[in-house]
Amino acid sequence: MSFGFRVTHTEGRARAGVLSTAHGDVETPAFMPVGTQGAVKGVTHRDLDSVGAQILLSNTYHLYLRPGDDLIARRGGLHRFIGWNKPILTDSGGYQVFSLAERRTITEDGARFRSHLDGTEHMLTPEKATDIQSQLGSDIAMVLDECLALPADEPAVRASMERTLRWACRARDRFLALRDGLVPGVVSTNPGQAQFGIVQGGVHPDLREESAKQTVDVGFEAYAIGGLSVGEPPEVMYDVVSHTTPFLPGDRPRYLMGVGTPEDLVEAVARGVDMFDCVLPTRNGRNGQLFTRRGRINIKNTQFAEDEGPVDPDCECYTCRTFSRAYLRHLYAVNEINASTLNTLHNLHFYLDTLRRIRESLRFGRFETFKVAFREQLGH
Ligand SMILES: [Zn+2]
Repeated sequence: MSFGFRVTHTEGRARAGVLSTAHGDVETPAFMPVGTQGAVKGVTHRDLDSVGAQILLSNTYHLYLRPGDDLIARRGGLHRFIGWNKPILTDSGGYQVFSLAERRTITEDGARFRSHLDGTEHMLTPEKATDIQSQLGSDIAMVLDECLALPADEPAVRASMERTLRWACRARDRFLALRDGLVPGVVSTNPGQAQFGIVQGGVHPDLREESAKQTVDVGFEAYAIGGLSVGEPPEVMYDVVSHTTPFLPGDRPRYLMGVGTPEDLVEAVARGVDMFDCVLPTRNGRNGQLFTRRGRINIKNTQFAEDEGPVDPDCECYTCRTFSRAYLRHLYAVNEINASTLNTLHNLHFYLDTLRRIRESLRFGRFETFKVAFREQLGH
């Protein structure tokens, strides 16, 4: 089976749909838990199934360094290697490389960097990022884009956006050559792999428009909006999303990268976004910050020391059905591994359940009603 997307319901600019991949379908709007090293920290794949995860995100940079894409290709690809049979999206590795600051140099060719593990030197180019993901065999591969250091003035954002476009052309050429078996020495472990282009352009509407139009001209299976949730106020991000989605084809899914809070997801769906990933539910879970329908709580606070209630009385996850806030606070305080597991399970359930409720509201033409109630409950 190959890549496909079908919109089933719309309300305003919000849509519900089904994304088809070589490893099955994903109902959209969808949230992708982040499994950096081929695992979501603290929870098993069985846990992910139990909270309704449909698709996993994995990080190319980390898997390239350890255990290496050659090894994973020899083991039959990432799905087989990690024992996850549902869809997987891999990022390009660019975000991590650009975050290395003093350890990397960017040229037109790509990014030269030193591994954060042993200092060895590597070169990540648009072609190399495509090759690695071909060997990993994810269902959705991302192009290498330039992640600009902020703050940056408009000419710098334009230059970066234009380089990202040139890189997108190179990545697409490589992807098509790999599909035709024209790249010796690189294995394709998933013939049904799709490749997404990435729109850049900072917070400048004209740059976003230009980037969107030209990225669509390159011709990818679908498109992502990158370079947001990097410190700008939420309203600015919502405006950029609002302005960008109309330039992306209506019959392809739209992926807002690295976003965001539960409120962000609802607002972005209202502006026509279909896919999300974010480390917030997992990272915050490990730090004891838990999302609820009435806002976030910090389980380490003393006010929960003898609180018999569940984290979220409206939540049906294993953690909330079984354990009290008092117990969870104790587990966190004594640094018990279970604290990370149970907190992560709850947060992921909260995120995935929010998306489930969004999809259901769209099916019944009640998304706007849902959105108002969601905000009211959070106290907005
Ligand atoms: Zn829960």
